[in-house]
Amino acid sequence: MFAQLQPVATDPILGLMAAYKEDQNPNKVDLGVGVYKDEQGHTAVLKCVKEAEALRLKNEDSKTYIGMAGDLGFNAHIEKLAFGHAHKALLANRITSAHTPGGTGALRVAAEFIKKANPNATIWVTKPTWANHISMFKAAGLNVKEYTYYDYSTKGLDEEGMFADLANVPAGDVVLVHACCHNPSGMDLTFAQWQRFAQVAKERGFTPLVDMAYQGFGAGLEEDAKGLRHLADTVDEMLLCSSCSKNFGLYRERIGAVSIMSADSKVSDIVRSNLLGVVRSIYSMPPAHGAIVVANILDSAELTALWHQELAEMRNRINNYRQLIIDKLAGEGVTQDFSFITRQHGMFSFLGIDKAQIARLRSEFSIYMVDSSRVSIAGLNHSNIDYFAKSVATVLK
Ligand code: PMP
Repeated sequence: MFAQLQPVATDPILGLMAAYKEDQNPNKVDLGVGVYKDEQGHTAVLKCVKEAEALRLKNEDSKTYIGMAGDLGFNAHIEKLAFGHAHKALLANRITSAHTPGGTGALRVAAEFIKKANPNATIWVTKPTWANHISMFKAAGLNVKEYTYYDYSTKGLDEEGMFADLANVPAGDVVLVHACCHNPSGMDLTFAQWQRFAQVAKERGFTPLVDMAYQGFGAGLEEDAKGLRHLADTVDEMLLCSSCSKNFGLYRERIGAVSIMSADSKVSDIVRSNLLGVVRSIYSMPPAHGAIVVANILDSAELTALWHQELAEMRNRINNYRQLIIDKLAGEGVTQDFSFITRQHGMFSFLGIDKAQIARLRSEFSIYMVDSSRVSIAGLNHSNIDYFAKSVATVLK
């Protein structure tokens, strides 16, 4: 039976990571994988996480099953973090959440839930989007279609194209929108565009699914959630998938959450039973560690303040490098306009260079980025930024 299987193409990013690892060039630069790195090129454990883990070790008195919804304290915190402390939907018990194995787990649970609620639903994703969105939704049996989003020629959002496509989405379908720090383009909706999106969702009757994998990496914890909060003010139903991989640096602990907002608390109770049914049929219950660590941080004013500080450090470092890339390229005599880099948010930027230039950067200079020219800005630091700018300037000539 197994011998009949055909090999599955792996995500190109994994091949890129392997090639980077094997590269013997001491100047090599990894701009591929979407993981935060500090000035030393290290993905350190946050101090607030270390303290919260020590607390957990001290206080944990049982390893019994945690339940299908996971850690209820964590769920309450994550809802407030995303929707805001006193959001009307929270106060009216219209939101139900389950903590999940990562943001990926949240998306998969959301997809299975959508399939249950409307087996014929099509899910619309931004063109382009994180590649795993498409494979995951297809694996859950959903139809997947793309809507216009990024304009490669203007290096900005194609707003009119986007809303022309959304005007044709039928009621009953689901539209995925990135809350902030769009992966891969870094191009986010302005608040005015969120307002327009919310209005169209309400008029058309489609259900938004907000993917928030980078809260706090764009403009700040509150600012990054503004759009989705407005959406939640406007529509009756929506889904939200959050991840604590980036903003708490808990990547390998696999911690995220799916939150579903319904029109009223009665429907929400039914939604909850269906949501938990989905969880039960996939992995039964989530792993506890990451949720308890996050809950320990958010339970403590002191650890929360430390987290805010560490998160701001990560965010500011990335944003400083956005400007630095532009300055250094100009310093190398590059005349092309790269100002769009500071209009993008979060971990990623599309550099907008072509495949041949990307290949040259890899083969001649050991600078690794994916073929779309998406770079993970956190891979840059004081010891490689000059080398990076010089190399890019060389291939642009
Ligand atoms: N959504 C987007 C847009 C992402 O970029 C990622 C992480 N690359 C995720 C979801 C999933 O994150 P996690 O590692 O928590 O599964």
